[in-house]
Amino acid sequence: MWWALFAFLSCIVTGDHSYAYNINAPIQTFVVGQPYKNASWRHPPEIRVCSDTKVTAFRINHAVSYWQKLGYKFGSVSVDNSINCTKAYYGEILITLPDSSFDNTKIASTRIYSKISTDEIVKAKIFIMPKDSKKARVLEHEIGHALGWAHYNKKFHIMHSNWIMGGLDASGLQNDG
Ligand SMILES: [Zn+2]
Repeated sequence: MWWALFAFLSCIVTGDHSYAYNINAPIQTFVVGQPYKNASWRHPPEIRVCSDTKVTAFRINHAVSYWQKLGYKFGSVSVDNSINCTKAYYGEILITLPDSSFDNTKIASTRIYSKISTDEIVKAKIFIMPKDSKKARVLEHEIGHALGWAHYNKKFHIMHSNWIMGGLDASGLQNDG
């Protein structure tokens, strides 16, 4: 019965949040309230790194431990050497090369897919270029998006939308759930 299948698919249709990490975005002077989380993982996400991004083991481990110290859990971290490393599977954060929507003003971006009904994140994609994959704080920031966090433009904060104005400040990001 096609309608039953349709009803089932409707339940897993995903919401989509996309964030670009800019190096020259307009700077907001004021910040209001606490950092905001759009959605959450129900189970610790796996992380798969496409080797063509040139993300190093050092950088990914550094970024993962940054969030682990804040109380977030992850599954395994693996490297994928396949040529066609572009599809994110349910339950994972995929770190891959950007698609055609990417432009030079961005150093990275993240797209999360979540269930509209429950705000549960089902998968996430982090897009990063090899030339930016060794920059400090970039993966930390993008994993923050992959965990559901929106931008938070407090100076020196990890979720600041402008890389130059950002820092390692993690205030308001502790996982207490
Ligand atoms: Zn961002």
